[in-house]
Amino acid sequence: MRENQEPTTQASQALAPVAVRAHGLTDIGMVRKINQDYLAVDRERGLFVVADGMGGHAAGDEASTTAVEAIMRLLVHDEHLPPHLASPLEEGAQVIIEAVIQAMEGANREIMQKASDNPDFEGMGTTAIVSVHRDNALFFGHIGDSRAYILRGHTFQQLTEDHSVVAQLVAAGAITPAEARIHPYRNVITRCLGMYQDIQVDTFYILLEPGDRVLLCTDGLTGVVPDQDIAQAIFQEPEPEKACRTLIDMANERGGADNITALLLYCE
Ligand code: CA
Repeated sequence: MRENQEPTTQASQALAPVAVRAHGLTDIGMVRKINQDYLAVDRERGLFVVADGMGGHAAGDEASTTAVEAIMRLLVHDEHLPPHLASPLEEGAQVIIEAVIQAMEGANREIMQKASDNPDFEGMGTTAIVSVHRDNALFFGHIGDSRAYILRGHTFQQLTEDHSVVAQLVAAGAITPAEARIHPYRNVITRCLGMYQDIQVDTFYILLEPGDRVLLCTDGLTGVVPDQDIAQAIFQEPEPEKACRTLIDMANERGGADNITALLLYCE
């Protein structure tokens, strides 16, 4: 999370668990021949993953699929990942964050192994955004330029920082966010799974409040649909499944140049 954006990361008194309704949808878009995005939704275990693969031929597809499946498998079988938050919160949170990092590192190793075993997969990589829901908290691990947002009341806020060249240029004041959207390097990411042996994952958590709506998505959505339009669509639609559909339709109406993925968590 960026330093100037801290909705509710402070340690808090034990709050009642917040139930979540979740739905995820991915779409090939209007231009691409294959969908290199991939996602997983495990409502029962509170595990959610979105990945956006890159690489020629079937490689990007292979990278995102491998990442999502590895992360889900490693989290499901991680005996250190507890079904509920332990207290105190900071210690309970650390255990879950550690499990998320381990799963993402494991996925990175699997992608690199596949790439070294098969010349067709050389150079493949993928973004990944992982979310774990436990009681009244949502934990995140993130690498690349797929994003998490939260809609709380009327405030729509990006929770993740893009690991991309244009995000660095915006942060340095060299270009504006509007210029970033059409910049020739807009698709160049600085971190992903499958690039190096050692990965640097951003992690954070938020405490949920009833009514919160959290979006995980790929740049096929955020690259063409302005944040305010995304926020309005989520605000207006009471069903996460229909809201996912609406977001994908909005991206396709704007050309659908890339694959599009939207995963929504609605807090009761
Ligand atoms: Ca993409």
